Amino acid sequence: MTTISANLQAVRARIAAAAELAGRAVGEVLLLAASKTFPAERIREAVAAGQRAFGENYVQEGLAKIGALDDLALEWHFIGPLQSNKTRPVAEHFDWVHGIERLKIAERLSAARGAGRPPLQVCIQVNVSGEASKSGVSPADTAPLAHAVAGLPNLRLRGLMAIPEPTDDLALARRRFAMLRELRDGLNRDGLSLDTLSMGMSDDLEAAILEGATIVRIGTAIFGERHYA
Ligand SMILES: *Cc1c(COP(=O)(O)O)cnc(C)c1O
Repeated sequence: MTTISANLQAVRARIAAAAELAGRAVGEVLLLAASKTFPAERIREAVAAGQRAFGENYVQEGLAKIGALDDLALEWHFIGPLQSNKTRPVAEHFDWVHGIERLKIAERLSAARGAGRPPLQVCIQVNVSGEASKSGVSPADTAPLAHAVAGLPNLRLRGLMAIPEPTDDLALARRRFAMLRELRDGLNRDGLSLDTLSMGMSDDLEAAILEGATIVRIGTAIFGERHYA
């Protein structure tokens, strides 16, 4: 067994244990493999071990891997910060975008996706860490953005995403994830139908699943430490 397939087994076991503790079905939680900085060959190893969904953070790097792995019909999620001049290739080549924090980016993605294709699946990124973090829309600004994004023709708003500041305080981690769930539930009471909470990474996937995560984005625990060039 390769290291990656062993790591994937271990991560799946963690997800199953957390789901059981939460009284949730393990099938409610999608494992998204965050493959940034790792080459296409490592992704092929993960695919051989049964992994289908991958997350990339950088447009050029992601497009190169999508092209190199075209034969495998994988599901690609863009999980990095997105600038408005890069929206077209992302709308054309990815299936999901997790980090929407401005209406202008969503409008450009919708225009570039075009009709005649399945809608691009999107999540709004919310800052649940207060002043500790700069990325994501504030909880107070989430509802107006969500309702505007939900009205765009070629996108489908699936839910909310967060990258809380790392903390060793499990109770604090759970409060931040719970905040995202409560925001999602409030939006649903307001007429949206959001099924997705994209939250939880290698170090905090258990806390996220206990608070309702439906997508966990896992890099290091699958591929090992990242080395940036
Ligand atoms: C890199 C990345 C991850 C994975 O982080 P790990 O701690 O390596 O599991 C998850 N989400 C986003 C947005 C990332 O950029």
